[in-house]
Amino acid sequence: MGLYREQGVVLRTIKLGESDRIVSIVTAGRGKIRGVAKGVRKTKSRFGARLEPLSHVSLLVYEGRDLDTISQAESIDHFRAIREDLDRMASAMTMLEVVDQVAQPDEANPRLYQMLVSALRALAERPAPLLMPAFFWKLLSLEGAHPLLAECAVCGSTADLVAFDLSLGGVLCRDCRSGRPITPEAIALVRRVLEGGLAGALNEPASPVTAEVDALAAWSIEQHLERRLRSLHVLDH
Ligand SMILES: [Zn+2]
Repeated sequence: MGLYREQGVVLRTIKLGESDRIVSIVTAGRGKIRGVAKGVRKTKSRFGARLEPLSHVSLLVYEGRDLDTISQAESIDHFRAIREDLDRMASAMTMLEVVDQVAQPDEANPRLYQMLVSALRALAERPAPLLMPAFFWKLLSLEGAHPLLAECAVCGSTADLVAFDLSLGGVLCRDCRSGRPITPEAIALVRRVLEGGLAGALNEPASPVTAEVDALAAWSIEQHLERRLRSLHVLDH
């Protein structure tokens, strides 16, 4: 038991008693941590304002037997530009929900943390149609679910690739097809995202192809997590 410092992004908070919250944070060095933040539900709590979901914070934490206690929180970035835009906020909340599912307690995953911070910075500075889907594709790859895109995941054929199913490993030829249809243009765009062309892909304007890549990314990440993402479907109804 002791005191530690970490940087992290607040994923979600839940109420605890009259005035406290339990805050889940993905950190650079300790994976996902859960800490009690005392007194944060009082109005005008600046400490509480720094510990809202999405906030990028520098923390001083007391290690506890079951739950840690957040002693100090300094804001690194509040991502105001995201908070002030409903679409950007919806994307950010979906990314936080996915990271909350993937991040493990006491298991450092600096790459995951860094990917999230980079994606949120990009979202704040310059949102792009492929920003969230690119984050999902990269995350799947980080999770060991990198899709095969150059050949059929079942038979190895490189011709007539018409379908995609991450649970089978990636793209599928006409004979092996299952999952969802995919166009050659969408395959090429996912390849750019995953094979070194991300910066260029983020310059792609919205089009039917970016929409296709977006839908496939969302479907694949839900398939990988074996659950539907609440925040992804908030605007459906
Ligand atoms: Zn095949």
